[in-house]
Amino acid sequence: MTEISCELIKAGKTIGFVPTMGALHLGHLSLFEAVKQYADVAMASIFVNPTQFAPNEDFDKYPRDLKKDVEMAELYGIDYVFAPSNDEMYSKNFLTNIHLDGITKVFEGERRPTHFDGVALVVAKLFNIIKPHYAFFGQKDYQQTLVIKQMVKDLNFDIDVVVRPTVRLENGLAMSSRNNYLTDDEKEKATIIYKSMLEAKSAISLGERNKEKIVKIIVEKIAEVPELKIDYVAVVKQKDLSEVDNFVSGDEIVILIAAFLGKTRLIDNMLITV
Ligand code: AMP
Repeated sequence: MTEISCELIKAGKTIGFVPTMGALHLGHLSLFEAVKQYADVAMASIFVNPTQFAPNEDFDKYPRDLKKDVEMAELYGIDYVFAPSNDEMYSKNFLTNIHLDGITKVFEGERRPTHFDGVALVVAKLFNIIKPHYAFFGQKDYQQTLVIKQMVKDLNFDIDVVVRPTVRLENGLAMSSRNNYLTDDEKEKATIIYKSMLEAKSAISLGERNKEKIVKIIVEKIAEVPELKIDYVAVVKQKDLSEVDNFVSGDEIVILIAAFLGKTRLIDNMLITV
């Protein structure tokens, strides 16, 4: 893979790269489509990265269909798919960790304490292997985009990080490989998450500036579907996920939600400029 990248770079080509864990859906495909607007050559990785899953999480049952994924990637303009084995990525005597502070301590990082270190490690390795000029990530995993940007800055990766909007089903449910765990009925129920954020957004646009009231609107809306168990609902600053109190005009805030539907954990978010 690195030889291919080096040859392309030597020939003056720019490389755009989309890291994924496969089980591709329209969210991933929207990232694939974006690559060619930035770079000459489009690359994607498909690797279910063990270091970002905790032992009690769904690594073993995570959906995998490499053949179908490669076909889809090709259809959506990807020139090279990098799909390494676990052993190729992590040899037996692998000893290095990457740990980010701050941003990894809250929300997803608080619930999944080793998750972002695992993400940072695999993305750093993939960046070194593939040597992209541009790397593409989805807003769906908003906190992850902040972690990646921080790592790119801290470790001097010469890579432009491009974040693309969340792709949703027509009913509002954010596309996710983990939606494969849901029944059709559950998929319909899960749309309450998006609906709750829309209600919050419209309350803000009608003048509501009290954060607690906005959180209450979301929590009460989600409570309409008793099967959904909220893990967290937060309204924080987009920049660094720090606390906001009451909003003032121009504040850039993000609603962050995580909720369980049965054993499936769903996350979603919405960016709002007050
Ligand atoms: P994953 O395969 O879940 O690790 O996701 C790979 C990339 O696709 C990440 O940058 C995700 O944020 C992005 N992604 C996942 N779902 C969506 C979605 N619904 N819309 C846009 N991007 C997404």
